[in-house]
Amino acid sequence: MTSPQAIAEQLGFDPDSLRAKYRAERDKRLRADGNEQYQEVTGDFSHYVDDPYVEPGYSRAPLADEVDCIVVGGGFGGLLTGARLTEAGVKRVRIIEKGGDFGGTWYWNRYPGAACDVESYVYLPLCEELNFVPKEKYTHAPEILAHSRAIGEKFNLYEHACFQTEVEGMEWDEDNKLWTVYTNRGDKMRAQYVCMANGPLNRPKLPGIPGISEYQGHTFHTSRWDYGYTGGGPEGNLSGLRGKRVGIIGTGATAIQCVPHLAQGADELFVFQRTPSSVDVRANRPTDPEWAASLKPGWQQARMDNFMTLVSGGFADEDLVNDGWTEIIRNLGSMVNFKGMGRLSPAEIAEKMELADFQKMEQIRARAEADVADKDTAESLKPYYRQFCKRPCFNDEYLPSFNLPGVHLIDTDGVGVERFTQAGLVANGQEFELDCVIFATGFEVGTDYTRRSGYDLIGRNGQSLKDKWADGIATLHGMQTSGFPNCFIISQAQSGFTVSFPHAMNEQAKHIAYIIQQVAQSNAKVVEVTEEAEQEWVQEIIKMSRLSESFQAECTPGYYNNEGKPNPKSVQNGSYGAGPVKFFKVIEGWREEGTLAGLELR
Ligand code: NDP
Repeated sequence: MTSPQAIAEQLGFDPDSLRAKYRAERDKRLRADGNEQYQEVTGDFSHYVDDPYVEPGYSRAPLADEVDCIVVGGGFGGLLTGARLTEAGVKRVRIIEKGGDFGGTWYWNRYPGAACDVESYVYLPLCEELNFVPKEKYTHAPEILAHSRAIGEKFNLYEHACFQTEVEGMEWDEDNKLWTVYTNRGDKMRAQYVCMANGPLNRPKLPGIPGISEYQGHTFHTSRWDYGYTGGGPEGNLSGLRGKRVGIIGTGATAIQCVPHLAQGADELFVFQRTPSSVDVRANRPTDPEWAASLKPGWQQARMDNFMTLVSGGFADEDLVNDGWTEIIRNLGSMVNFKGMGRLSPAEIAEKMELADFQKMEQIRARAEADVADKDTAESLKPYYRQFCKRPCFNDEYLPSFNLPGVHLIDTDGVGVERFTQAGLVANGQEFELDCVIFATGFEVGTDYTRRSGYDLIGRNGQSLKDKWADGIATLHGMQTSGFPNCFIISQAQSGFTVSFPHAMNEQAKHIAYIIQQVAQSNAKVVEVTEEAEQEWVQEIIKMSRLSESFQAECTPGYYNNEGKPNPKSVQNGSYGAGPVKFFKVIEGWREEGTLAGLELR
């Protein structure tokens, strides 16, 4: 038997003490209120979601026309659905979008430094269809927004689109076999199909701390960046912050990207941290034109599949992306011979995975120590949890920002900011006077679907979706729900979750287009999931969730584990627990079977 000390020496870390430290850090952060701790951006707070990118005063006459399909949301989910439906021969596809253009999350998130952490060649959808290769390995937000518009142009999705329009409700008309869609512009449009692509991170949230309304300084949320106040643009140069004391609440993926620019622009920057992010190497670089020219047809799908396989714990002969996302799997490979994995029990594989994870996170913690001069600050920036408990971040400027004389990390040891005062913020019992407070506090994830979408659906027999899903989501493959004919959903709930969201959305869009095409070919007007098929899928989701149950329970709270409060409803509302590779096989197999199993055509 090898002693724990010998194991620690061999590995360079002590797994038992790391396990204990992770638990202690998680326990500090567990709180009874979970998702309830956050402030919804409604009522007095609704100005936090005003659109800063459009001229005020837009108006148009209400529409009362009919199209083939109405898609709610003009982000990648809506664009991919539009593209795949157009390819499948659906003529009139109308995308309804709250913002002034396509782009979704990339329309709203224009904060300085905004960029995609997933490799651009994998992340940006439909690159081959548009004959496009991004400029950098990790593309910046303006290029992603431009690409969204290019997809809209290519698939002619601007023709019927309605921007600056919010859906307020939808109702199924059983007599005419059509949906009626109501909007805040007085529209009463009709469509044979509706598809909800509202996005997983579309509703900003604020920290639910007392006194927000009393604060006299300036505030805004990162997803509505106020360049009028800060000056500069997405590339930085925030000249408006000269002479200012700025606070930012939150240290998630968004803050990691904008803090370096705030650090350069503001006289003093106070970064209020509750939980540190894992900040790994980014090493961005321009695209090699020779490599781009050498790409063969099918290159993007192959790269996407390769990346997805590796980041979901699978094996591939080659690591095409070869970055911080896939490194954990390379670490695992160095601990076990992949080909020999079959000889290990699931418990042994889980143990090796945990060791590879410890090793990865030790590297991340060592990076904080190497890049940050002040020892206490470096210590506070070290994350103690497994890498995929929270969204991993990749940035080369964030950690060194704390070496600038005007930049202060206010670590709250898991507690968070306590309250606002008229002059600023209180944390750790101390008041910090601030000219401006920026909320980098993220988006609603664990709240009810219809609250996040901002509208309800009335299906067959007058049933509302809010009521139907009150105790948990019920779908077939995450995309259809019984009682709501001709209605499709693009989301991660009960569907495949990937770190590169557009990949999953593309698979869902193809699946939806296939079903609509089949309905058209059969001359039916209506397609609906049977209750039996739906119930079977719900049970499958609950069963599969057990695969990640203990992992989630050990994680520090965050939106990946329902803020540390997994419960039967959050489990049922989760994604397919056996991972995206398996999920895509399930829906592909279902299509290949060709019987539309579980669906009823009328
Ligand atoms: P997150 O939800 O990830 O982060 C919110 C932050 O606010 C956390 O650090 C949280 O701390 C903190 N917070 C909340 N309440 C308080 C409080 N009272 N006091 C102090 N801190 C508080 O939001 P982001 O906007 O950073 O990111 C959202 C998601 O957007 C990411 O997870 C990612 O999926 C996506 N994204 C993707 C990018 C990409 O490259 N593709 C880039 C940027 C974002 P705690 O951790 O303790 O809860």
